[in-house]
Amino acid sequence: RPVVEVAGVDKVYGNGTVALKEVDLTVGEGEFVSLLGPSGCGKSTLLRVMAGLGEASSGTVKWWEQDYQVVGGKGRKLAFVFQNATLMPWARVRKNVRLPLDLAHEHGEDAEARIDQALEMVGLSKFGNAYPRELSGGMQMRASIARAMVTEPNLLLMDEPFGALDEMTRNRLNDDVLRLWKEKGWTVVFVTHSVYEAVYLSNRVVVMAARPGRVVEDVRIDAPYPRG
Ligand code: ADP
Ligand code: ADP
Repeated sequence: RPVVEVAGVDKVYGNGTVALKEVDLTVGEGEFVSLLGPSGCGKSTLLRVMAGLGEASSGTVKWWEQDYQVVGGKGRKLAFVFQNATLMPWARVRKNVRLPLDLAHEHGEDAEARIDQALEMVGLSKFGNAYPRELSGGMQMRASIARAMVTEPNLLLMDEPFGALDEMTRNRLNDDVLRLWKEKGWTVVFVTHSVYEAVYLSNRVVVMAARPGRVVEDVRIDAPYPRG
C-alpha cells in the first residue's frame, strides 16, 4: 500500500529556481528509501514536499491516498528529522523529547512511558535530565530521533541527519536506525549524499540529478543478508 505518492511534481522557488521537475515517487509501507544525489539536486526540496512542509508548484502529493489536511485526523503520523539536531537548548533532554506530545495535548502515564521507551531505544535513558549542550553531537542527534519516535510515526522523513557527524558516530547511528526500522516497522525516506549510507541502510535507492532536480534512477536492493 502506498504511504506517500508524489506524482508529476514541479517545484519552482520564488526566485525562479526550478528545484524539481516532473518528479514521480511512490513509497510503499515498510520501505526504507534513500534519496541520493549531488548537492543542489533537490533532495531536501523533495523531502519537504513529502512532509507537507512545502507545497508543490504543480502535480500532486498524497498521503495514504488522501490529501494532507485529512491525514492528521486518521491517526497516521509523519515525523521529520532535520539535518542538525534542533533541540531547545534551554530545556532538558526529556522535555525536548516530550515536545510533540505536549503539542498534541497528550499527557499522563502513557505519554511518560512512551518518552521512557524512546529514550531507551536511542540509549539515552540516563540523560533525560541533561541539557543538550551536555551531550555529544551523536547523542544530540539521537535525542532528535527520540523526539521523532515518541509520536510513533508511520512515516519517518530524515534530511541528512548524520551529515554533520564524524564517521564512527555516523556508522553507529546507521546501525541504530536500521535496528529501529526493523523493530518498529517504520516507513522511512532518508536523504543522504553518501552512496555507502544509501546502500547500507535502504532497500531502495532513488538517485536524483540537478538542474532541474529530477529522478534518474530508482533501484531496489535485495539485501544479501536479512534486514528484518
Ligand atoms: P539538495 O537537498 O539536493 O542539496 P535542495 O533541495 O536544497 O537540494 O535545493 C535544490 C535547488 O533549489 C538548489 O539549486 C537550491 O539552491 C535551490 N533552493 C533550495 N531552497 C531554496 C529556496 N528557499 N529559495 C530558492 N532556491 C532554493
Ligand atoms: P556518541 O557516539 O553517542 O556521540 P560519544 O562517542 O560522544 O557517543 O561518547 C561515547 C559514550 O560516552 C556515550 O555513548 C555516552 O555514554 C558517554 N558520553 C558522551 N558524552 C557524554 C557526556 N557529556 N556526559 C556523560 N557521558 C557522555
